[in-house]
Amino acid sequence: MALIVQKFGGSSVKDRDHLFRVAHIIDDTRRAGNDVVVVVSAQGDTTDELLAKVAEITCNPSPRELDMLLSTGEQSTIALLTMALHAMGCPAVSLTGWQAGFWTDQAYTKARITRMDGARLSRELARNRVVVVAGFQGLNEQGNITTLGRGGSDTSAVAIAAALHADHCQIYTDVEGIYTADPRKVPRARKLKEISVDEMLELATMGSQVLNSRSVELTKKYNVELEVLSSLHPEKGTVVKETAQAMEEIPIKGVTKDLHISVITLLNLPDAPDTCFQVFRLLAENDISVDMILQSPGRQERADLRFTVAAADEAQAVKLLRENAACYGGTGAVKVDPSCAKVSIVGAGVQAHSGVAVKLFEALSRCNISVKMITTSEIKVSMILHKRDADLAVRAIHDSFIEE
Ligand code: ASP
Ligand code: MG
Repeated sequence: MALIVQKFGGSSVKDRDHLFRVAHIIDDTRRAGNDVVVVVSAQGDTTDELLAKVAEITCNPSPRELDMLLSTGEQSTIALLTMALHAMGCPAVSLTGWQAGFWTDQAYTKARITRMDGARLSRELARNRVVVVAGFQGLNEQGNITTLGRGGSDTSAVAIAAALHADHCQIYTDVEGIYTADPRKVPRARKLKEISVDEMLELATMGSQVLNSRSVELTKKYNVELEVLSSLHPEKGTVVKETAQAMEEIPIKGVTKDLHISVITLLNLPDAPDTCFQVFRLLAENDISVDMILQSPGRQERADLRFTVAAADEAQAVKLLRENAACYGGTGAVKVDPSCAKVSIVGAGVQAHSGVAVKLFEALSRCNISVKMITTSEIKVSMILHKRDADLAVRAIHDSFIEE
């Protein structure tokens, strides 16, 4: 007998028929002799709909109230799915995130799990019930409901798998696994049988929508066995593991794009050793993470600093940088370019294979696409280019690396 965590995303539980389809998968798993913990998202587009309701009332909601509202989406799914399981004769109980033992820090709307108390989950499993847990939510030390950031149910599932030492963690979604590119945009995209955790982490961070990046961080940290599969065709999925087999001589595993970024430029900064430290400390203290960083030598001991942040953090970042310019020696001149997208290629072979850069820039030059910023790591190359070029760039790069 194994302990299996199964997570079902919003599209897999969007209506009555989908709920029953999911209930069958769960019931079959239990009948095969396994203990099952289920984690669910809000149904369909519920979270977006809730956000639209907020926008009707205010453009500056209290983060605490926002989390109070958003957490209701998952709470309604757990009750409905548990009722569907009962209707099929499957013993089951639903638990909110806080009932399931999720403790988080204070950062409303993007809280991090600080502690996972699995006692209640274990007790319910010992009573031979399927436990259906609301993803994406927890409780902070002040006793307030928090949410874990968009797509956070994946993280909830992996955290449970880690805390209970589950044998498998299955992430059910509406695609059949991890593809070399978004198959809706790139017809030649292929499904991967396996991918390494490091590669998956880069893909998730660089804009692949299939898995939330924090969930992959936890997968790596706690060595969880993860599989991504479709709730419509559960037989074929992608396994995410420590080391994955290379795909026949192809140095890359995926090409992604991220349209939700902003490029911020601070002009005319003092060329002093602690300038960058002060800038990035200011942002970090306010939970804003920075991705690509480029410092260009300026004139007369002044320099320009350019970096990218998530589009959702842009307004707050600009406000902080303008209001606190004195603390990093800036003039308050902060330029924002929201027209950018980030396109990345990811694969363990990026550094090992010679000629990756040539192939990459050949593909871009063939399409007449110019690049504004570029960074490389052992398993990734990321480029900033104009949003309007992003889809074409992904397709051109993908097809030059991954043949049919
Ligand atoms: N319902 C939340 C969202 O839409 C969390 C999740 O689906 O994982 O982002
Ligand atoms: Mg998701």
